[in-house]
Amino acid sequence: MKRVHNFNAGPSALPLSALELARDELLDFEGSGMSIMEHSHRGKEYERVHDEVLSSLRELLAVPDSHDILLLQGGAHQQFAQIPMNLLRPGQSADYVITGGWSERALDEAKNCGTVRVACTTQVDKVYRRVPTESELQLDPNAAYVHITSNNTLFGTQWQTFPKTSAPLVADMSSDIMSRPLDVAQFGLIYAGAQKNIGPSGITVVIIRKDLVASARTDIPKIFRYSTHAKERSLYHTPPTFSVYLARNVLRWIKGLGGLSAIEQRNREKTDVLYATIDAHPELYRAPVEKASRSRMNIVFTLPSEDLEKRFLAEAQKRELIGLKGHRSVGGIRVSTYNAVELASVKVLCEFMNEFAKTA
Ligand SMILES: *Cc1c(COP(=O)(O)O)cnc(C)c1O
Repeated sequence: MKRVHNFNAGPSALPLSALELARDELLDFEGSGMSIMEHSHRGKEYERVHDEVLSSLRELLAVPDSHDILLLQGGAHQQFAQIPMNLLRPGQSADYVITGGWSERALDEAKNCGTVRVACTTQVDKVYRRVPTESELQLDPNAAYVHITSNNTLFGTQWQTFPKTSAPLVADMSSDIMSRPLDVAQFGLIYAGAQKNIGPSGITVVIIRKDLVASARTDIPKIFRYSTHAKERSLYHTPPTFSVYLARNVLRWIKGLGGLSAIEQRNREKTDVLYATIDAHPELYRAPVEKASRSRMNIVFTLPSEDLEKRFLAEAQKRELIGLKGHRSVGGIRVSTYNAVELASVKVLCEFMNEFAKTA
């Protein structure tokens, strides 16, 4: 068996132990004589898995009783629409802070649902090199909510602290949820597609304040109401059972490491060596992101020419360093160091980068 150094931006690397457990349990889940995929979502075997995921998320993220945790489908993209459908009423408007490609998409979709305002954008010459400071935000005190993207997967920027807002703060955390401890109480709503830090694609985690669930619009289709799913513990209809099962395995792995403080420490070690390697060769590796906004999930840099970047990627591939090409809209190199990426893989990459710098 071969396992490469997987730096994919999403879907991305999963912890080996989570995959091994899935392999071992695939044909006969806990002595039931069938795989978890073949179980009814109303049966006790699946319910146990489902409840473990909900309780592990609550424990690891220290989600207070004031908030519900939902396991939905449709990815972060569905939330781009579902959030305004639920929380934005006619006559109201919602504030969007634009820090990259995903916040642009969230804004565009919200425009299809109601009135929106841009409270701030950090775009300059078509790119984003930083997240804003709190004082730059021009917030509408009457906004239905304020939407931010906590980690900008394409441009490699990340909020280090979150703004205090009078309107409920809504955050797309698809690419950095579970990467560090979080004060969930600060947020009205957090959402994240699972496929970066929680498991495979198929589930979207939504953490939402209960009063927002209760006061959300009811003049929308039932399937899109948060209240529908909150009432039924996300078992209103068939959930993507295998994705939920794999998330269970990933969350067990996080617990085994010691929870989110330990995960944060791990992520810091990985990105400290990587940024140090980039900064050690400023003539070759150019990091466009301002230091204070540097992401610890997606590390972006460019080389002086596209030819050099192509050579870099080709030689990296030969060493089984995979998934390093920047997003098609941004170019350059992007290293995604999500939770499951091991420090050892990052060190192999850094050794390669140091060697490449000698020959380039
Ligand atoms: C990956 C990603 C998305 C897209 O998620 P889908 O599940 O494909 O809809 C949205 N926002 C952020 C921040 C992402 O990293």
